[in-house]
Amino acid sequence: MPEIRQLSASVINKIAAGEVIERPSSVVKELVENAVDAGSSRVDVSVEKGGLDLVRVSDNGSGIEQEQLVLALASHATSKIHDADDLFSVLTMGFRGEALASIAEISHLTMTSRTVENDAAATVESNGGRLQGPRPIGAPVGTSVEIRNLFFNTPVRRKFMRTPQTEMGHVSEAFLRIAIAHPDIHFTLRHNERAVHDLPPVDNWKQRLTAVFGRELAEHLIWIENSDDETRLWGFVADPVYHRGNNRMQYLFLNRRHIRDRSLQHALGEAYRGLLLHGRHPVAFLQLEMPPNVVDVNVHPSKLEVRFENSRRLYSQVLGTLRTKFLSTDLTARVEKPDVEPSSGNIPSAVSGGPSLADSLDRQNQSRLDLDYGPRPEVDFGGVVPARDQWAAPLGETGRPLHGVGVASNVGGDGEIAATNDTMPPDRTAGDISARLVTEATYTFQGMQAHNRYLITESEDGVLVIDQHALHERILYERFREKVLSGKLEVQRLLVPETITMTPSEVAVGLENKDLLHELGIEIEHFGGDTLVINGYPTMLAKVGAADVLRWAIDRLIANNGRAEKRDLIDEILHMMSCKAAVKAGDPLCAEEITALLEHRELCQDAHHCPHGRPTSLVFSRQELDRRFQRI
Ligand code: ADP
Ligand code: MG
Repeated sequence: MPEIRQLSASVINKIAAGEVIERPSSVVKELVENAVDAGSSRVDVSVEKGGLDLVRVSDNGSGIEQEQLVLALASHATSKIHDADDLFSVLTMGFRGEALASIAEISHLTMTSRTVENDAAATVESNGGRLQGPRPIGAPVGTSVEIRNLFFNTPVRRKFMRTPQTEMGHVSEAFLRIAIAHPDIHFTLRHNERAVHDLPPVDNWKQRLTAVFGRELAEHLIWIENSDDETRLWGFVADPVYHRGNNRMQYLFLNRRHIRDRSLQHALGEAYRGLLLHGRHPVAFLQLEMPPNVVDVNVHPSKLEVRFENSRRLYSQVLGTLRTKFLSTDLTARVEKPDVEPSSGNIPSAVSGGPSLADSLDRQNQSRLDLDYGPRPEVDFGGVVPARDQWAAPLGETGRPLHGVGVASNVGGDGEIAATNDTMPPDRTAGDISARLVTEATYTFQGMQAHNRYLITESEDGVLVIDQHALHERILYERFREKVLSGKLEVQRLLVPETITMTPSEVAVGLENKDLLHELGIEIEHFGGDTLVINGYPTMLAKVGAADVLRWAIDRLIANNGRAEKRDLIDEILHMMSCKAAVKAGDPLCAEEITALLEHRELCQDAHHCPHGRPTSLVFSRQELDRRFQRI
């Protein structure tokens, strides 16, 4: 029979250390948290060799009485909670009382502390858990903890340590997570005697974020705020033009403690859906404030993860707040300082010599657009077309309006558009174009095409250069999505069903996803063997061709290989469909197509990004133009 024995305190501490102290950065986290809990206004962290040789954290906080110093190093000894009920009202960063004991067990530790009431400080030492002291020593008010030779007696753990540089990366991250959340405290970090961060106290959060991450980020931050009876959510998210290749610049704090939460991270991703390119991640700094009794922080040894009582509501709060903010924010990429970073890729070259409006008109007949325009522009905007009766543009001899340069106004909220102020006599012909161009000035400029790919127009803020493909794609995507989500997608039933032969695996994937394809308006059946029959497909894709639509969709399904959620998949296929159906770069557009596109831009929820997240437009602000022409 195996004998049951009580483990020694030393073994218990080593086990706890195994959980809490993974690497030098864990020591930094625990010591800096203690310094913050002690009410310090200044915390200095000094590290050598990535923390493997030394971690020293000094603060000017409350200090510890000499007779309590030894107790502070004992396991399960804490001044932060007294009984189990206190667990539901913890607002300090620590409360488990095991950090110092764990660290002392696996390192050479020296702790020196002095309270305001005492003239002298006291110091204790621990050599792998064997204590010496306390003895008096001269030191300022506050506490200084020095950890040398971490893991010296746990060689297995020591072996897992990476290079000092990598460890320093973790240290820096642990330090910043706390420093960011406490802008009122002066924090410094040094590595091998060199200053890494010096963060003096500031009065607002943005200043601390700027000090840590730089001015460029700060310029892209958007303030968000939302409260319900229980939770206050506030902080900053970055404009979608500022993004990252990983999610490390997403900081979430709960009552000033850095936490990780998959669900809220997902909400963040959802909020940016369609605003970022695939594989790019949003940047966000979010603070949650809620009463401690609605969240359990005691589920993870280093308290990185917590359990919310109402996580669903929180999810919606984060998603809703961000979405609402984005809808009311002008996210158009701004071209403010073209001469600062001329090669950044975001800056368009000056538009010159682009085709004139007359050129556009002359090309009407050769238009390769997937746009059917009859007597009025009937651009395929997914069912929303400018209302015929209200379209006052006169007709030329081709039966088309000669121009679409009237002032457009949005009548009613349902997407109907009317052109007004268009007083061209109805008997004008194409021959009058040049004459008309002379009088063009009497019309409000609506837009023109340049290089067969960009639309140029003005807004209150300045001059906009719009990517025609990206914009049309965005418009179609939003219409598609709205219709698919509301189940109102028009489906064109094929009188003669189309058959399409594919590989056996393509056929299988198609049939497996029959319902999903149906939701997207693609109706298929098995014809037998390697052949599928298409009975119907979205009317909006009429000009693309049923077989192509199905092939693309199945390609996406295969590429995805069951990894994405259904919603993501639908979204991806919608992107693809919109992309295929949209006008291309290089397609000449006639004036009314330009007008119609620009008008629909106004109706877009997010006219600033194509569904892949590329910007659809750039703004040359009036201010910037004035500056460049030396008017100011
Ligand atoms: P916890 O932080 O969970 O209470 P620790 O082991 O980290 O446990 O610290 C034990 C106790 O030591 C704390 O509760 C606190 O009273 C005291 N202490 C630790 N560090 C400091 C510090 N920098 N300043 C003042 N008191 C401290
Ligand atoms: Mg602690």
